[in-house]
Amino acid sequence: MPELPEVQTILDALAPLILDREIHSVTALWPPVIDRPERMLFAAWMQGRRVVEVNRRGKYMLFRLDDDRWMIMHLRMTGKVRVVDASQPLRPHDRLLFHLLDGRDWRFEDQRKFGRVYLVESPDEVIGKLGPEPLSNAFDADYLMRKLARRTAPIKSLLLDQRMVAGIGNIYADESLFRARIHPLRACGSLTRTEIEGLVGAVKAVLVQALAEMGTTLQDYRRPDGSIGSFQNSLQVFRRTGEPCPTCGAPIQRIVVGGRSTHFCPREQLLTGPTHPG
Ligand SMILES: [Zn+2]
Repeated sequence: MPELPEVQTILDALAPLILDREIHSVTALWPPVIDRPERMLFAAWMQGRRVVEVNRRGKYMLFRLDDDRWMIMHLRMTGKVRVVDASQPLRPHDRLLFHLLDGRDWRFEDQRKFGRVYLVESPDEVIGKLGPEPLSNAFDADYLMRKLARRTAPIKSLLLDQRMVAGIGNIYADESLFRARIHPLRACGSLTRTEIEGLVGAVKAVLVQALAEMGTTLQDYRRPDGSIGSFQNSLQVFRRTGEPCPTCGAPIQRIVVGGRSTHFCPREQLLTGPTHPG
């Protein structure tokens, strides 16, 4: 599933191709991709509109239209977007086509069909419950201390909770916990202030590096021009089960946390947490 760095990379590439281009009409090849409003209304409201601003919140792509409504897209597991000449043949999993007046199509493709688009008056209708952006100043040790206090859930699960912090998924949760040397099953409330400061720094560092490397391509993620990211070459634990830890050489272990595959170094990320002198 594309996470913050992948969604941002896609949006950066997509923006110059669609900004200020009039949308002539919409074809929903698989109508349930439209979450709201009802699909005839969606098509009618999109007709003749232009995207005047693009933005990202968590894993959502936000497109402000020239009538001040917002079209919002979530790629979920396998969603992809591309902009091609309208004469290009369709692909089997194309779900939604925005026909641009300039003769090109903005196409939303999605093999697994979990991706959704929304057209709303206010973005809060869709993204109002999201936690802060992990790269913003709002996501700091004070914030995380408050959120984690007294909670017994594993820290990995909280990192994936979009209401706690928006945009992190399985890859960057595992990589951040490794860099912070925190076991994914540690109870949130057991983390020390020092560990939380380390985790905040690790989350930000991992995301900044992944953004610079245009995201991680494991299977489905592609930039709109079809090219791949390169952070998969920088992964230290994610899907490296049995391979040596890059810092200590211990074999990376895989466990399941909250139904999600989780990878960590058993020698450096300890369930007991830090030992305090005295
Ligand atoms: Zn290690």
